[in-house]
Amino acid sequence: LEAKEEFSHKTLAMDVMRPRRSDPPLSVLTQDGMTVEDVETMITETTYSGFPVVVSHESQRLVGFVLRRDLTISIENARQRQDGIVSTSRIFFTEYTPPQPPSSPPPLKLRGIMDLSPFTVTDHTAMDIVVDIFRKLGLRQCLITHNGRLLGIITKKDILKHVAQIAKRDPDSILFN
Ligand code: ADP
Repeated sequence: LEAKEEFSHKTLAMDVMRPRRSDPPLSVLTQDGMTVEDVETMITETTYSGFPVVVSHESQRLVGFVLRRDLTISIENARQRQDGIVSTSRIFFTEYTPPQPPSSPPPLKLRGIMDLSPFTVTDHTAMDIVVDIFRKLGLRQCLITHNGRLLGIITKKDILKHVAQIAKRDPDSILFN
């Protein structure tokens, strides 16, 4: 890479990631704080292909990533198997499930459908590097963090839009060599 070309685009991951400043916050799952009903509501109220899982809303510490499809199928299956899973059942993405109070329904353990090491970059990563990583690793999405806190997400489609924008502005860009 030529130094001049390498620095011709200063766009950073934070400039491309969602949510934008005016958007509603990222839709995340917490690793042990949600019920089946909470998650079903999130699935019906959004159209995202996947959801990051965090330790808690306060910490925003990333635990993994779950595909919407896998979440939907797992909850449907659990409800149909009639093993006591109901709307108020707690969902756990943790390794260990604490004993539930005697009066509460059995928990639904979903750690198995979670990608435990989703690809992440920091918000200060240059977009030409992010684009390169998407291409080389064939990523569908990448999560953006700052000091270990989850900030946002960039999907393959976000990347394609970004690349198209640059192509319009600068057809000779390094991205197209
Ligand atoms: P695609 O980008 O292929 O349409 P999605 O439907 O998952 O994939 O995402 C739509 C838009 O919403 C993208 O701009 C993406 O960055 C953003 N997004 C994806 N997942 C989430 C999420 N869990 N919370 C908030 N925004 C998201």
